[in-house]
Amino acid sequence: ADFGYRKVPVEQKEKLVHGVFSSVASNYDIMNDVMSMGIHRLWKCHMINKLDCGMRPNSGKPLQFLDVAGGTGDVAFGLLDHANEKYGDNESKMIVADINPDMLKEGERRCLKTRYANSPRIKFMVQNGEKLESIPDNSIDVYTIAFGIRNFTNIQAGLDAAYRVMKPGGIFACLEFSQVHDPVLSYLYDLYSFSCLPMMGQLIANDRDSYEYLVESIRKFPNQEKFASMIRKAGFYVPGKGYEDLTFGVAAIHLGVKL
Ligand code: SAM
Repeated sequence: ADFGYRKVPVEQKEKLVHGVFSSVASNYDIMNDVMSMGIHRLWKCHMINKLDCGMRPNSGKPLQFLDVAGGTGDVAFGLLDHANEKYGDNESKMIVADINPDMLKEGERRCLKTRYANSPRIKFMVQNGEKLESIPDNSIDVYTIAFGIRNFTNIQAGLDAAYRVMKPGGIFACLEFSQVHDPVLSYLYDLYSFSCLPMMGQLIANDRDSYEYLVESIRKFPNQEKFASMIRKAGFYVPGKGYEDLTFGVAAIHLGVKL
């Protein structure tokens, strides 16, 4: 179904993305909850468990994590917690990178309320995920990105940058909104996205435009197969079909390994 969404010209995209996330940084959780009916928390948890990262007790080699478009730090704290709780790993390190200083500030503020407050193990860096200029080649064991890559102006450049910074053997994992395959569910989902969401954005955050942009960005993002082929193109080995659908394909987790 075509619900007549606007197309955002590429040259306006970066500015728009910045505005969207600056305007929602502080009530970001509400937005995520509205967008996914609260399920984004379960999806993030699922990705963290699926990756099952952490320095194994007999390894002695701490991991270097990088969470790109990390914003509020949800995924970053979750990965470190998992490593700690499952493997007793208190050494692995995390870089949270985001293009938007306001989102990062929100992440830093939240970090103060966690066990990583003022820890040298976690670093917040303003970085464009399409370049990752301050991240050295072959330095990252686990690269994660949740609900971030669809906002990139050049997604392939983002995947190429991910490949560059990762160590051989490193894992790339992307959680992103994706495409619902079932035609009936897809129709209902369109109805929800194009009619209810902008209205709820208006009511809850008084910000219809940001929510409209977010819906558009989800619809324009490549489908599961196309995105898996872009990950392959960046040089990653993609195991199996390369992705797992979550909630009928509303979101998907894509994986890649740098061999
Ligand atoms: N990963 C967090 C989560 O799941 O809660 C935040 C996701 S939020 C929907 C998207 C984030 O992507 C925003 O913080 C935004 O600033 C960031 N972002 C957008 N374009 C980016 C880019 N080119 N490089 C790095 N971060 C970017």
